[in-house]
Amino acid sequence: MKIKEIVNALEMFAPLPLQDGFDNAGLQIGLTDAEATGALLCLDVTEAVVDEAVTLGFNLIISHHPLIFRGYKSLTGKDYVERCIMKAIKNDIAVFSMHTNLDNAPQGVNYKIAEKIGLKNLRILEPKENSLLKMVTFVPSDYAEKVRMALFDAGCGCIGNYDSCSYTLAGTGTFRAQKGTNPFCGKIGEFHYEDEIRIETILPSFKKKAVEKALIKAHPYEEPAYDFYALENNWMQVGAGVVGELKEPETETDFLKRIKKTFEVGCVKHTSLNGRLIQTVALCGGAGAFLLPKAVAAHADVFITGEVKYHDYFYYEHDILVAEIGHYESEQYTKEIFFSILKDLFPTLDIQMTRINTNPIKYL
Ligand SMILES: [Zn+2]
Repeated sequence: MKIKEIVNALEMFAPLPLQDGFDNAGLQIGLTDAEATGALLCLDVTEAVVDEAVTLGFNLIISHHPLIFRGYKSLTGKDYVERCIMKAIKNDIAVFSMHTNLDNAPQGVNYKIAEKIGLKNLRILEPKENSLLKMVTFVPSDYAEKVRMALFDAGCGCIGNYDSCSYTLAGTGTFRAQKGTNPFCGKIGEFHYEDEIRIETILPSFKKKAVEKALIKAHPYEEPAYDFYALENNWMQVGAGVVGELKEPETETDFLKRIKKTFEVGCVKHTSLNGRLIQTVALCGGAGAFLLPKAVAAHADVFITGEVKYHDYFYYEHDILVAEIGHYESEQYTKEIFFSILKDLFPTLDIQMTRINTNPIKYL
């Protein structure tokens, strides 16, 4: 299969428009028309990882952290990023990254961390704002089903674990076709009444163009009437961090020891223990301390993330147990998400997780 088929499958799971504004997820290097010779999965692209791909004979690296974050005016190999770029290009290796789009996606990075901890009843800690639209169109009755299905196929109608959600209302449309038109019904120059169905449905904003195209294709009218409305509803299935519950409460010490073991953390930093039982757990892989207020508001007993600033320990120590487990440690199992997306879709593709621990932080 071609690299672009693999990339498309990854983008289906975590669409690139879900990434945060600062991010640069997506194709970093390479041509996707090439046949894939194997995929190496990693958290970070380092020179050792590119070397590993070369040794394996793989021409695709899939990483969580993007290799490229800024514009380059020259490539001289002066830092590891430039050296990785040059080495990947020299060896015809494509690099594709799934970063905050995978953090924000349902079943993404934070779901994997929650799975490792054994959390149930997961909810997004900070659902994405301003990312949903309502779409309304008016269709002659006999064509309502065709248009409705075309809208669903284009990505409309998903609410939680339900798809095909829409609302239908019958009414009467009016129009008068002017000279030069080719009306589907009614006569040129005559006022016309038509039995129409109003269809309302919901969609992610980033699918607007595709939905508009599908509507125009499926709608019988020369000039279909339709409206997109911006919604103030949050997208509850997409966003930063998750919160969920342990099956059985644990003492703070038992819980922290278990986390240390599960994530192979050299040193778990945490706020003082006050004897609370841990049942509700909020978390965010990587640098997730910005979600601390949300974790407190969600009445979580503990917040786990990869990086926390010194003063945040002071600020939140009475509200919640804060545990910092390291950026790499918190996100290391992201490779397993890539693996599970690809293994069933591409059973003949050689897929391997890197054997290199790319964590640049060492513990004495
Ligand atoms: Zn990260």
